Amino acid sequence: MPATLRRAAAVAAMAPDNLGDAFVQIAFIAAVYDRASPSQRAALRVAAAGEAGLLRRARSRKTGTTTAVYRAEEQGIESDPEFPYAVVCETHGTIVCVGTRRQAFDTAPDPTQFCDDCRAAEARPPAE
Ligand SMILES: [Zn+2]
Repeated sequence: MPATLRRAAAVAAMAPDNLGDAFVQIAFIAAVYDRASPSQRAALRVAAAGEAGLLRRARSRKTGTTTAVYRAEEQGIESDPEFPYAVVCETHGTIVCVGTRRQAFDTAPDPTQFCDDCRAAEARPPAE
């Protein structure tokens, strides 16, 4: 991500202290947004929604729960520098941090790998 876009994403995630700051933020983000590609615009929208570091969010076909992959540090999730990616079962609030983006994307579709509640729900017979 280019530096300007990164700065805009950080600004979009900030809560302004007053109306003057809010207008400065909006003007800055609007100027960047205007020249951003569709994927860069998506990154800005995610940042503005308080979802900094979100790489992917999807419903698990296996469990029906929602999982997300974040850059842990950007999302404010404490993790060892060796494990910079956080996979989150958003339904149960379970988090596991992994070393690579690939691992994170492989883990997310099956939260039974790290979420006890998803594992327990899977062990129960499905509701009719
Ligand atoms: Zn779960």
